Amino acid sequence: MGRTLQNTMINLGLQNACDEAIYQLGLDMEELEEIEEDAGLGNGGLGRLAACFLDSMATLGLAAYGYGIRYEYGIFNQKIRDGWQVEEADDWLRHGNPWEKARPEYMLPVHFYGRVEHAATGIKWIDTQVVLALPYDTPVPGYMNNTVNTMRLWSARAPNDFNLRDFNVGDYIQAVLDRNLAENISRVLYPNDNFFEGKELRLKQEYFVVAATLQDIIRRFKASKFGSTESVRTVFDSFPDQVAIQLNDTHPAMAIPELMRIFVDIEKLPWNKAWDITKRTFAYTNHTVLPEALERWPVDLVEKLLPRHLQIIYEINQRHLDHIAFLFPNDVDRLRRMSLIEEGGTKRINMAHLCIVGSHAVNGVAKIHSEIVKTQVFEDFAALEPEKFQNKTNGITPRRWLLLCNPGLAELIAEKIGEDYVRDLSQLTKLHKFVDDDLFIREVAKVKQENKVKFAQYLEKEYKVKINPSSMFDVHVKRIHEYKRQLMNCLHIVTMYNRIRRDPAKLFVPRTVIIGGKAAPGYHMAKMIIKLINAVGHVVNNDPVVGSKLKVIFLENYRVSLAEKVIPATDLSEQISTAGTEASGTGNMKFMLNGALTIGTMDGANVEMAEEAGEENLFIFGMRVEDVTELDKEGYHAQEYYNRLPELKQAIDQIRSGFFSPKEPDLFKDVVNMLFHHDRFKVFADYEAYVKCQEKVSELYLNSKAWTKMVIRNIAAAGKFSSDRTIKEYARDIWHVEPSDLKIPPPNEPRDAGEDKTPNGTAA
Ligand SMILES: *Cc1c(COP(=O)(O)O)cnc(C)c1O
Repeated sequence: MGRTLQNTMINLGLQNACDEAIYQLGLDMEELEEIEEDAGLGNGGLGRLAACFLDSMATLGLAAYGYGIRYEYGIFNQKIRDGWQVEEADDWLRHGNPWEKARPEYMLPVHFYGRVEHAATGIKWIDTQVVLALPYDTPVPGYMNNTVNTMRLWSARAPNDFNLRDFNVGDYIQAVLDRNLAENISRVLYPNDNFFEGKELRLKQEYFVVAATLQDIIRRFKASKFGSTESVRTVFDSFPDQVAIQLNDTHPAMAIPELMRIFVDIEKLPWNKAWDITKRTFAYTNHTVLPEALERWPVDLVEKLLPRHLQIIYEINQRHLDHIAFLFPNDVDRLRRMSLIEEGGTKRINMAHLCIVGSHAVNGVAKIHSEIVKTQVFEDFAALEPEKFQNKTNGITPRRWLLLCNPGLAELIAEKIGEDYVRDLSQLTKLHKFVDDDLFIREVAKVKQENKVKFAQYLEKEYKVKINPSSMFDVHVKRIHEYKRQLMNCLHIVTMYNRIRRDPAKLFVPRTVIIGGKAAPGYHMAKMIIKLINAVGHVVNNDPVVGSKLKVIFLENYRVSLAEKVIPATDLSEQISTAGTEASGTGNMKFMLNGALTIGTMDGANVEMAEEAGEENLFIFGMRVEDVTELDKEGYHAQEYYNRLPELKQAIDQIRSGFFSPKEPDLFKDVVNMLFHHDRFKVFADYEAYVKCQEKVSELYLNSKAWTKMVIRNIAAAGKFSSDRTIKEYARDIWHVEPSDLKIPPPNEPRDAGEDKTPNGTAA
């Protein structure tokens, strides 16, 4: 979520009044805002997407809740020491959290372990350990519409009788201390981005949020007119009409067997009826096709922690496979490929398969990604139910990612096209008619320059580093991952450095290359990439021949509040993943909306950004998905590129020989070895096209007017990437919301005195 104060003031239309009041008290609002901790309860794009969706759902007047875990420690704070990443615990609740309200009246029990008993009255899950889920509510205000939704995060509490037995004094003390075991469930966020870690505590977290949330939803349904007026036998018939549950990746996949357990074991519905209601309730969003990121939980672990759920998953699988065997007789290989259970070695549950089978809709997050989902990764499932597969291209909220972070640009746009674009971002196309307006061009360039100066001042104040605000700010910020190819950027830096040194008198367009992002603490290669960038930066930044032409900054502790500072100050946005690996990206959209140009591959939503703005208004380079597939077929040989490209050879030789790590010449040998022998993301194959494309970027940057005109064409084409548009598509195509229920509530309609309920009935 990041910070809440400024977002709340903006969405309530109170920002100017508050700024003024605080000023009159002799205080500075920006200084106060800086005191707030980020809510860093996710790892990167996935969690931030959910945050944008909450803002859009509230703004569109949809009665929607965001459910999650109230981690006591969010994503770690990153420190850079001697060029290495060091992790520090994120104790974000240390000073309290004024935005949350505990709701003990809605506390719920969650069961773990135990065994299954087959009694005459039905199946019972007994002898379980109970952990309590205490909800904390945070208000989610819509933009200027008198609507407030709720984000409900669950915190784990030990029951008061946890471990209670006949104690002598020592046992009693130990029993109180052991309450921690239960409460550890919500202690800390697992810090992996796009990587599956099959730890028991992580599975506990996933089931904890799911079990508490489903009870909460069913309680609310039963309290509604739909859940209370009908007979016990038919009460759940209307459930899928009243409730839609969107699974944000497979992390909450256990919700599918859990809802089946509630319906079959507790509510005593027949299996077929329960399954029909379950499927119509759930929809699944796939966020990645990287095999190492797909969740495959060991059967043994699930059996120990959730024995009844394992039985239900087996039953779901049996019926699923029976159906396929009926449609495709004698196709054993298809049954193996489509099974929810992977055999051979450790038996595992394929959670994506479970989600596809248990949902009525499956979507990818950008056109190209949804195609890959449908035609490659889940090809067999799409052959079975083609109409189930959809695309919902990601978006970002223009409130946080324009109004809040870039008020100068937001006001300039409002002067030209009015203020309605904030709720209807497609209206940005009206800017097209100002592309040749010299005054507007100068004003857009001026706002960018002011943002760059402000960011440079921030870096100088916080980190004592001086950068040149008239150089091109070339920014690559996102989680550090091999597929995102920060290494390719690094090779470009080394190449520029060598060119300057080879011919110091030659014209060079000054650049400040800014790279930032967290590496998962257990991801060795990602940590080496951070160290390499810092090592290269140390040499480049201290070489008198280079001077102020080229600077390399590693931006420490990249997070939402830092993104809000650096993105509006960026000239060039780096979106250079190997084609076919980045599902969508949302960072790319934030930069586009804030007047940066994109250098990028035809991957994720970059493809649609090029479609919207015209490919000639982005710097697109490198292999397309088909080229990558082709290269895989013929075999990728990194050595050939190294032999053929002298500048690549020079850069690699320098890294390998300790030019950037003279005290430890072998430091980067693992990195270089990976690039030669097991680079799944083919850095060398795109290096040449990347460097050539960067030359074009520099050339255009020399012509400030032409650059800014391209910037304006990009901003004018960014309307599609509002998360309001994304949410409208989910509502129409997946949640089956009537269009009349989707109209934006009138702005700031006066409220009746004494009316404390929001339109959605939440007592926020
Ligand atoms: C938007 C955002 C991301 C996602 O960036 P990508 O470039 O799409 O990976 C990650 N972290 C933060 C803090 C963000 O704001």
